[in-house]
Amino acid sequence: MSTDPDAVRQRLQQDLAQIELALVESVSATATVMLDQSSVGRLSRMDALQQQALAQEMRGRLQLSKRKLEAAMVRLDAGRYGLCCDCGEPMEADRLDRDPAAIFCLECMSTRI
Ligand SMILES: [Zn+2]
Repeated sequence: MSTDPDAVRQRLQQDLAQIELALVESVSATATVMLDQSSVGRLSRMDALQQQALAQEMRGRLQLSKRKLEAAMVRLDAGRYGLCCDCGEPMEADRLDRDPAAIFCLECMSTRI
């Protein structure tokens, strides 16, 4: 990935837009489960609850990704984008390419697991 701030910003905004769309869809997915449960009754209550839990888990993950991307934008504005938040060293380019919102370099990440 290019380290040009404008290109990075565009990539972050694209990812954010996708997550916001997925968040909207996950809300309607949860609503559908509830509707099926009351009006159709074909799903058992357990199935409906399980699907709802999955949808909630998915939404939690999306919200976390959204916060990470927003934090990456803040770092970009502050001119600290791409630097590890722990050791301060520049992160590997392929790491940022896979996860533009990465916070720690691979070395620091591995000491946190
Ligand atoms: Zn580091």
